[in-house]
This record gives sequence, structure tokens and C-alpha cells, in this order.
Amino acid sequence: MKTYKIAVIKGDGIGPEIVDEAIKVLDAVSTNAGFNLVYEEVLMGGCAYDVYGEPLPKETIEVCMHCDAILFGAIGGEKWDNLPRDKRPESGLLKLRSTLELFANFRPVKVYDELVDASSLKPAIVEGVDLLVVRELTGGIYFGEPREKEEKKAYNTMVYTKSEIVRIAKMAFEAAMVRGKKVCSIDKANVLEVSQLWREVVEEVAKDYPEVSLSHMYVDNAAMQLVRDPKQFDVILTGNIFGDILSDEASQISGSIGLLPSSSVGGKVGLYEPIHGSAPDIAGQGIANPIATISSASMMLRFAFGEIDAADKIDNAVSLFLKEGYRTKDLSSFGAKEICSTQEAGSIIADKVSKL
Ligand code: NAD
Repeated sequence: MKTYKIAVIKGDGIGPEIVDEAIKVLDAVSTNAGFNLVYEEVLMGGCAYDVYGEPLPKETIEVCMHCDAILFGAIGGEKWDNLPRDKRPESGLLKLRSTLELFANFRPVKVYDELVDASSLKPAIVEGVDLLVVRELTGGIYFGEPREKEEKKAYNTMVYTKSEIVRIAKMAFEAAMVRGKKVCSIDKANVLEVSQLWREVVEEVAKDYPEVSLSHMYVDNAAMQLVRDPKQFDVILTGNIFGDILSDEASQISGSIGLLPSSSVGGKVGLYEPIHGSAPDIAGQGIANPIATISSASMMLRFAFGEIDAADKIDNAVSLFLKEGYRTKDLSSFGAKEICSTQEAGSIIADKVSKL
């Protein structure tokens, strides 16, 4: 029987609560599925700093490198906000992404029929939205050098090399080939040289995908178009900072940031995580929505292990859960027949998975 080794990073805030529920669901789906899942828990983020004095200990990198995939919750919190930059929780995640060469971040945004009212946009605008944000993850302004904060001046540098743009563009076009065959590349080419290169290179890559239609959009317009008519998008291809912002904006189309999963790939081992942060405001209260993490676990089964049936079961169980009117607190005003805690939500979804 196949055995998949999963590095588990629960992180800070709601991280442990939501990852525990994803593991509950993974255990349910792997029972009698013809494969075994083995977990190895490691620390990253503020909790790692508290133990090791580092947000990303060497042990964590080593375990991640030797696993088949990484399941991650979230990191960060006020407690660690005033640490020097390289000791902050976020530095641990940025370093993990760059060490593992996870340059491509996939953030699918789907609207569940049952939750069309949960979006802050009108139901007619969001009904049927199914888009994918492909965000470059290890380059751009978050990593560019030089960077400095002085007393009266601070600066960052936005850099992209041609090869960095080629590899992320290819990922977006490949994804479009198995979706709606449309790529919209988002940049700020009217102002930034780095975006002008981005546009030229994306045009070049597009020549290898004649079936895919390519359009370009400035990021300010894209921010507006996403809420005006999100259905116009199939695959959105963009750089690190624009993708960060646009994908959070896109999450609201679905009704709650607690619903959206993501995968970060490109290197040897993929990282699967919800798009939201550690939500310190609700940590420890048992009210976090675990669906984003459970759906990230489904993406892991599908894309890292090729266990399509098992992934489908999880997706179907999540749909059933919502269809039957179960809601966590973030969605309690939208078609709720029963409000459940984080733990109850995980148990109900796991139970549905076992019966599918
Ligand atoms: P956040 O995503 O943690 O929270 C934003 C809002 O969404 C909060 O009101 C929160 O309660 C809510 N929310 C988030 N996830 C939810 C869920 N599963 N269910 C219900 N509600 C949910 O963003 P923030 O408040 O800007 O950041 C909090 C901390 O998280 C910061 O330290 C930040 O640096 C960190 N962060 C980490 C990651 C990551 O680990 N990948 C990503 C973003 C932010």
C-alpha cells in the first residue's frame, strides 16, 4: 500500500484548530482508500520562535524536504510583531517558500451555490464564479534587494528576471489549458519597467499556447473588474504583491476568507494552506471556519499525490455540508440551519467523507 508522508505545520493563532480538522478529514478519507497517510509535525512561525529563537528552524526545513507534501495552517500574531524582521513569523514562511522554490501559488476561487448571498456582491454578479489566481511567490518586491528602513527613508525593490516570469507564465497557461483557456495577465506596465518586461515575456510564452487567449490588465483596473464582473476571469496571472492583494479581494466574492484553499508548488515538495492568516481575533474560540484548510488538504491529495477519488470525496463532503445548512460563525447569517464550531464542522465533514 502506498504511504504518503506529510509535514504538518500548524503555526499560530487559529492554525492548530483548523489543521486538526483537516487531519480529521484526511484520516476519514484515507481509511479503506488504498493509501496511508503519515504525519510529522514541525514548528514554524511565532511558536517556533518561542522554542528555537527562529521562526523557521533547520529541523523544520529538513523534515519538509523529506516529506511528500506540507500541510500548513497559518502564522503570526501581535506577540511577535515587534521582533526584528528576520525573526518575525512571516519571515519563516517567506524563507520556507524560497528554500523549497515554491514559486507558483494557485488560489482557486469558487462560489458555492448555497453561499451566493454570503458575498458582499450581488448574487447575480457572483453566481457561478470559478476563477484561479496564479501568483508568483518567490520574487518581486517581497524579496527584492536592496531593502532598508532608515529613520527618515525606507525603500524596497521590485525585481523580476525573465526566467522567473517564464516559469510562472507557463504554469498559468498550463492551468488554463485544463480550464477555460483564458489567461488575464495583471501588471502595472503603464508605470513600472518590471511590469513592461513581465508583459513582453508573457506574450512570448503565450506563443506556445495558441489555444489559450491572453489579455492584459493594469492592476488598478483589475481590482475594480474583480468586483464589477468577476465572471470575466478564468486564470489570472500576476506577480507577488499584486497577487497577494487581488486574491484576498477575490476571496470576498466567495463569502468568507475561511473558505479558500491554496497550493504553492514548483519545487520538490508542495505546500498546501488556506489563504487566510492566523486570525488572532478569533483564535482559541472554536469559531474559525476550517473549510479553507480542509479544501487545501483536498488539493494536496489531488495535485501532490494524484489521489483524485479521495480529493473528490472531500470536495463533495464540503459541498454537502454547506447544502445541508451547516455553517461556522463567519457564515452564520447565510442560509444557516445549524451553527457549528470549528471542531463540529470538521467532524461532520469527516463523517460525510466516510459515507461517500
Ligand atoms: P487574517 O486572514 O488572519 O484575518 C482577517 C479576518 O478574517 C479576521 O477578521 C479573521 O477573524 C477572519 N478570518 C480569517 N480566517 C478565518 C477563518 N478560517 N474563519 C473565520 N474567519 C477568519 O488576516 P490579518 O488579521 O490581517 O492577520 C493576522 C495575522 O496573520 C498577522 O500576524 C498576519 O501577518 C498573519 N498572516 C499570516 C498568513 C499566513 O500564515 N499565510 C497570511 C496572512 C496573514
